[in-house]
Amino acid sequence: MSSGEGEAWEFPEDWEYSGGVPERLLRIRAKCPYCGHTFEVEMGESWYNMGISITCPKCGKQFSVSMYGEVLGEVKRSGKSSK
Ligand SMILES: [Zn+2]
Repeated sequence: MSSGEGEAWEFPEDWEYSGGVPERLLRIRAKCPYCGHTFEVEMGESWYNMGISITCPKCGKQFSVSMYGEVLGEVKRSGKSSK
């Protein structure tokens, strides 16, 4: 019996190209403040700076990614590995 809960947020269709500039995609390691589960997520830099809430895949609670997240680096979209 959950009323109003369980709303999964989704990326807008054009979230990558807001303003015409491809946004950097960050890989973030988040640690859930509730259960201590550590997991990695990828999201746009502005999303991270906004401190958007993410959902722990283990306990299902939400917390701010900028408060409990650590940026590991930038995700390379086109993984061309030509030596
Ligand atoms: Zn958790």
